[in-house]
Amino acid sequence: MTTLTPVLTANWDRADSFTLQGYGEYEAAKKALGMDPDAIIKVVKDSGLRGRGGAGFPTGMKWGFIPQGDGKAHYLVVNADESEPGTCKDIPLMMANPHSLVEGVIITAYAIRANQAFIYVRGEVLHVVRRVQAAVAEAYEKGYLGTDILGSGYDLELVVHTGAGAYICGEETALLDSLEGYRGQPRLKPPFPAVAGLYACPTVINNVESVASVPSIIGNGADWFASMGTEKSKGFGIFSLSGHVTRPGQYEAPLGITLRELLDMAGGVRAGHRLKFWTPGGSSTPIFTDEHLDVPLDFESVGAKGSMLGTRALQIFDETTCVLRAVLRWTEFYAHESCGKCTPCREGTYWLKQVLRRLEKGQGDEADITTITDIADNILGRSFCALGDGAVSPIHSSVKYFREEYLKHFEIGGCPFDHAASTVWG
Ligand code: NAD
Ligand code: SF4
Repeated sequence: MTTLTPVLTANWDRADSFTLQGYGEYEAAKKALGMDPDAIIKVVKDSGLRGRGGAGFPTGMKWGFIPQGDGKAHYLVVNADESEPGTCKDIPLMMANPHSLVEGVIITAYAIRANQAFIYVRGEVLHVVRRVQAAVAEAYEKGYLGTDILGSGYDLELVVHTGAGAYICGEETALLDSLEGYRGQPRLKPPFPAVAGLYACPTVINNVESVASVPSIIGNGADWFASMGTEKSKGFGIFSLSGHVTRPGQYEAPLGITLRELLDMAGGVRAGHRLKFWTPGGSSTPIFTDEHLDVPLDFESVGAKGSMLGTRALQIFDETTCVLRAVLRWTEFYAHESCGKCTPCREGTYWLKQVLRRLEKGQGDEADITTITDIADNILGRSFCALGDGAVSPIHSSVKYFREEYLKHFEIGGCPFDHAASTVWG
C-alpha cells in the first residue's frame, strides 16, 4: 500500500506556514551557493526530477541546455499560470508554502547562472500574487535575494509578474510574449526557450512545483528523491482530487500511486455513488473510466493506457454525470481560450462546441458523432501548440468509452441525466 509523502505539503497545517518563521532558514540555498553550479545540475539530473507542469521533461537536462560562457544574460521564469481545468496544486502550494518556491528559484537561477528571475502568476488569483510578493519581500529583507546573497558574491533579482487572465499564457512561449509586453500567443519551437527565450536569451521555464521541489532534493540528496516513485517517474508529486470525492484536496504521494489508493485516502467516491469516469491529468488528457482504477499514475503507465499523467488533476465523476455535458463544458472552455493564431484550433474548437451543444440536447444523430471525431482528427497534430491537441482529448476518449451514451441522447431526444443530481455543475 503506497502512503502519502508530505514534503511540499508537510507544513500546510501550520498557521504561519507561509512565513519565513514557519518555513525556516533557507538551508538548501545556503548549501547550494557553496556548490559549483554544474554540480547542482548534476544532482537534479541524478534525482530524476521531471517537469511537474504536465509534460514531464527532465528538469536537470533542461537546465543543462543553457549554454555557458555565451556572454548573454540568462533568465529563469517560473510558470505559475496554473489554469488547466481541475488542476489545483501550484495555487495552494504558493498560498501555503511560497518560500519553497522562492528558495527553489535561488538554487535554480544560481545553477543556470541567471541573475534575473520572474514568477509569472495567473492574474485572477490576486490573493496568491500578494502571498508570493510577501514571501519575496521577506526573502529580500533576510538577504536571500538581491546583491551578494549571504556573502556568496552571487546576485539575483526576482520579480513577481501577473498575467491578465488568458489560459494560453500558461503555454511557455506565449507566457514569454506576455512577459515581454506583447499579446500572449505561442511562438514557433524550435528554437526552444533554453536557446532563445526571454528577450531572445537562454531561458529556463519551469513549473512552480518543479522549482519548489529543488530545495528538498539539494537538502536530502538525489538518491533520497529517486528512492520514491517508479523507475522512470521518480519522486513525489501533488495530486489534486476534485469532483465527486468525499474529501477533495491535494494529496502528495509518490508517482506510481493508483487512483484506487488515492480514493481510499480521500474517503472514496461520494457516499452511495460509484465512479463513472475521471481525468488523470486535467481536462487536456483523455478520460479514464472505472477500468483504470489500478493504473499506476506515472508518466509511462498512464501513457501506455492511452492518456497522459499531465498535471495530476484527478477530476472524479460518478454515475449521475452526463459525459456529454462534461465534454461540452471543457470544449466551451477551449473554444473560449483558443488564442486564434492557427485555423484548426480556432475554427475547430468553435465547431466542436456548436455540434456538442446540439448533441447534448438530443438534437443530433449518429452522423454527428462522426462529425465531431472528424473535426477532432483535423485539430489533433495540426495545431500550432498543445492547446489544440488537449482540446480534443475528451472528445476522442468519451466517444471511445461512452458511445452508447451519445446514442441514448438521440434515441430519447434529450439528455437522460438529471443535472441537479450531479452537483459538480454548481
Ligand atoms: P513540451 O513537451 O513541448 O515541452 C516540455 C518542456 O521541455 C518545455 O519547457 C520545452 O521547452 C522543453 N523542451 C522540450 N523539448 C526540448 C528540446 N529539444 N530542447 C530544449 N527544451 C525542450 O510540452 P509543453 O507544450 O511545454 O507542455 C504541455 C503540457 O502542459 C501538457 O502535458 C499539459 O499537461 C500541460 N499543461 C499544464 C497546464 C497547467 O495549468 N499547469 C495547462 C495546460 C497544459
Ligand atoms: Fe492558439 Fe489554439 Fe493554435 Fe495554440 S492551437 S496557437 S491556442 S489557436
